[in-house]
Amino acid sequence: MPGTSAPTTAVIGAGISGLTTSKMLADYAVPFTCFEASDRVGGNWAFGNPNGHSSAYQSLHIDTSKYQLSFKDFPMPDDYPDFPHHTQIKDYLDSYADAFGLREQIEFGNRVLSARRLEGGGWEIDDEAGATRHFDLLVVANGHHWDPRTAQFPGEFTGESFHSHHYVDPWTPLHLMDRRILVVGLGNSAADITVEVSQRALRNRVTLSTRSSAWVVPKLMFGKAADMNYRTNPHLPMSWQRKVAQWGQRLTASDPTLYGLPAPNHKFFEAHPTQSGELPLRLKSGDVTPKGNIARLDGSTVHFEDGTSSDFDVIIYATGYNLTFPFFDPEFISAPENRIDLYKRIFKPGIDDLMFAGFAQATPTLFPFVECQARLIAAYAIGAYLPPSEAEMREVIKADDERYMGHMLDRPRHTHQLDYFVYEHDIRTKELPAGRCRAQARHRTQQVPA
Ligand SMILES: Cc1cc2nc3c(=O)[nH]c(=O)nc-3n(C[C@H](O)[C@H](O)[C@H](O)COP(=O)(O)OP(=O)(O)OC[C@H]3O[C@@H](n4cnc5c(N)ncnc54)[C@H](O)[C@@H]3O)c2cc1C
Repeated sequence: MPGTSAPTTAVIGAGISGLTTSKMLADYAVPFTCFEASDRVGGNWAFGNPNGHSSAYQSLHIDTSKYQLSFKDFPMPDDYPDFPHHTQIKDYLDSYADAFGLREQIEFGNRVLSARRLEGGGWEIDDEAGATRHFDLLVVANGHHWDPRTAQFPGEFTGESFHSHHYVDPWTPLHLMDRRILVVGLGNSAADITVEVSQRALRNRVTLSTRSSAWVVPKLMFGKAADMNYRTNPHLPMSWQRKVAQWGQRLTASDPTLYGLPAPNHKFFEAHPTQSGELPLRLKSGDVTPKGNIARLDGSTVHFEDGTSSDFDVIIYATGYNLTFPFFDPEFISAPENRIDLYKRIFKPGIDDLMFAGFAQATPTLFPFVECQARLIAAYAIGAYLPPSEAEMREVIKADDERYMGHMLDRPRHTHQLDYFVYEHDIRTKELPAGRCRAQARHRTQQVPA
């Protein structure tokens, strides 16, 4: 727990979460070491990252426009397109690390193998270089889009299959020409991959199967980035705003049933939508066959819940990722069913020298969200912010879950969904000032002579 002098701090990871945390710790003069398993910054956005953690594919463009995505203290270059390519995001993150002189404090190629909490607080870390190191605080920023989660169906498929994490382009990891391909899932990666492998020039026969379905919103509206119009108002009840969005969704033609896909099991604006202008066109052009959930697998045949079946050569599972912390003893910390209860998605109640960064599915984007989290983390490290009691934290976690996810029908799938604008407003106008008062009150108590 931070006291009078700034605590030595370890940050695990130099993706967007670790970089923004490192930058903020440096701003607040907190001594820190950032451990990075790879030889480069950027995590997921470093295409072909030798750490095996990048899920970026060759053609990936960011789904959130640069207007929403930019860090508040480091705007994206003016000459960037509205939806930059992943190489431009990587360049942007490199410039961020250089502009704030972060590389000197990053230990590249030095993976954290294990992190143990010491009795009475503090951390003992075994690193890949063979050293055992000690720190007062630990910030976990190891990402949550690298450990593939594959859907389980009864039966066995005897063709080839892989997870979207391993998809690079139509020739890697498999040669996808003249093949019968089933893509499972309807998130952004599923949409992008389906669009790519269903190009007629490749002569594939592509089917898209989804269990929960999703609203498919265009990336452009009236020739402009559609998400420029997206901004929730923290002063109005979210239920009203959802109603307005649901009423107006016809303007975006995002109802998947218009394109033959199953109806979503949630209303518009109740969960992260899929962003793709091209998928509806591919479906309407007959290049992709829409299907509901898979019932069972039998050799090369896939049986669907609607009673139909087809033969396939390849299944691509675009079915999401697990939250995984390989450096913790799972008895100590893990995220069963992708669930980890964190106060403001940062603090684990009961462990006052551990923080998490980046573990949310923030709408519309994760970038300014992690920057906002970093502000709270650094304020805590210097003793300018204190979270409430353990009991209160647990109450607030429940209330926040209800606020961000209570309306969702399929809650296990959306264990860490939140609205960035509501979150940022809460942190800036309520949480930081309240935490400052708590920190000052504690400081005063500690100064009272016994
Ligand atoms: C295909 C795809 C498209 C996406 N599109 C968008 C989008 O349009 N908009 C948006 O806002 N978000 C998008 N995201 C989500 C988000 O931007 C990324 O997941 C983001 O990279 C998260 O950053 P991070 O720093 O938390 O994790 P990561 O980028 O995964 O970085 C984690 C870092 O930690 C390091 N690390 C891990 N374990 C250790 C260890 N034990 N020791 C030392 N270092 C370690 C890794 O090497 C890595 O560099 C997308 C994600 C994917 C997969």
